[in-house]
Amino acid sequence: MSLALAGTLHAALSLNEIVAKYPDIPRLIIIKTDVQRRGIHYTERALSIVDPAIHQIRSPYLFGSRDGAIKPLPESLLLRDGTTIFVDPTPLEQNPYQVDLVEGRLALVDNGEVVEFVRLWEKPLYYDQKTSSGIPMSHIASARPQRLNIFQSSYCHFWAEQKGCRFCDIVNHNKQQKHELGVPVRLKPEDVSETIREALKEPGRFTNICLTAGSVLKGKDLFDHEVDYYIETLLAIGENFATKKFPSELISSAFNEKQLIRLYEQTGIMSYTSDLEVLNEEKFNWICPGKADTLGYNEWKKRLIRAVDIFGKGNVGTGLVGGVELAKPYGFGSENEALEATFEEAESLAVNGVTTFFIVWVPRPGSDFRGQQNPSLEYFVRLASGLHQIRAKYRLSIDFNDYRRCGNHPDTDLSRLL
Ligand code: SF4
Repeated sequence: MSLALAGTLHAALSLNEIVAKYPDIPRLIIIKTDVQRRGIHYTERALSIVDPAIHQIRSPYLFGSRDGAIKPLPESLLLRDGTTIFVDPTPLEQNPYQVDLVEGRLALVDNGEVVEFVRLWEKPLYYDQKTSSGIPMSHIASARPQRLNIFQSSYCHFWAEQKGCRFCDIVNHNKQQKHELGVPVRLKPEDVSETIREALKEPGRFTNICLTAGSVLKGKDLFDHEVDYYIETLLAIGENFATKKFPSELISSAFNEKQLIRLYEQTGIMSYTSDLEVLNEEKFNWICPGKADTLGYNEWKKRLIRAVDIFGKGNVGTGLVGGVELAKPYGFGSENEALEATFEEAESLAVNGVTTFFIVWVPRPGSDFRGQQNPSLEYFVRLASGLHQIRAKYRLSIDFNDYRRCGNHPDTDLSRLL
């Protein structure tokens, strides 16, 4: 039995109890996971030292935040070992961690106790620039500490048929973002090319470019228009590189072989992710009705496996919204059952060269699952440990989506232990 399945869950354990119970998992990764699980609230004292000339203020994002608001708060946090915490501001009544000023430094505080000191993300230089068409470059590429995100289109066709994934708030959030900030719903390739060119001038900052957007169902073959648009954007990004390939990840719908070959051969893309979101067919059918109706769980899986022949082992992955498999009322009845099912499926993908990683499920107010409670910290620690162990067992690299290139997956943070 793996470490991840060895635990017996009773009452939820505290952060310190989990740290003591799982000595193989670094304390800072456990803290990151819990902060992502519970969210944060900045005190007025903490906000008094935020300097928008230095610190990155929240920039446009594909999905909304746990408080459903768009406010000029700091983008997010870093722990002292460089671990990224990608976390939302959260209403106080949901019991988030507090970010407070303690002895002149920012700290994560829980029940009046300092858990860890933290740093704010630094604003990249290009955030102060505009494109020739007059759009703030921060609206074209959102920065993480070492990655550039391009959200080329913020509409998802599954929503048009009321079949969006139940944890997702993409369309509601992007309407709000367009209305309040004027963020374009669809990016022009020339604006993307110009922004990437400017961002890359900052020495040593960015190690990867990630493209993602909502699904586009139109075209001769399902998703053809989505593929065409990605190719157009990737070619525009590629204008800034001397080599054909550049460090990059595409997170998209599950494309057929012909579409994947076009993408790989015509552009600089190097890795491919298509999210199954939940590793169980019955839960997938309930949680992702649009994906289930258009392709179905098994075809989605088959397409991921076929992508390994094109992109290579270690360059194809699938993302999970970790914890959503326990959503009410039709999710798994227990955390043990959910972990067992998830690991079995993740292993069946790993055997075929596809790696699985997760983000921590945050029940967002703009989603169908608003108001639900995500699982215990112990669940997420066991999920991270189990997915990491599967990756290690099958010698799957996660270089394209690790703590530096992404920073949003507790399980891929563990790749530093290998
Ligand atoms: S595919 Fe699902 S998760 Fe992705 S944008 Fe569409 S509705 Fe949201």
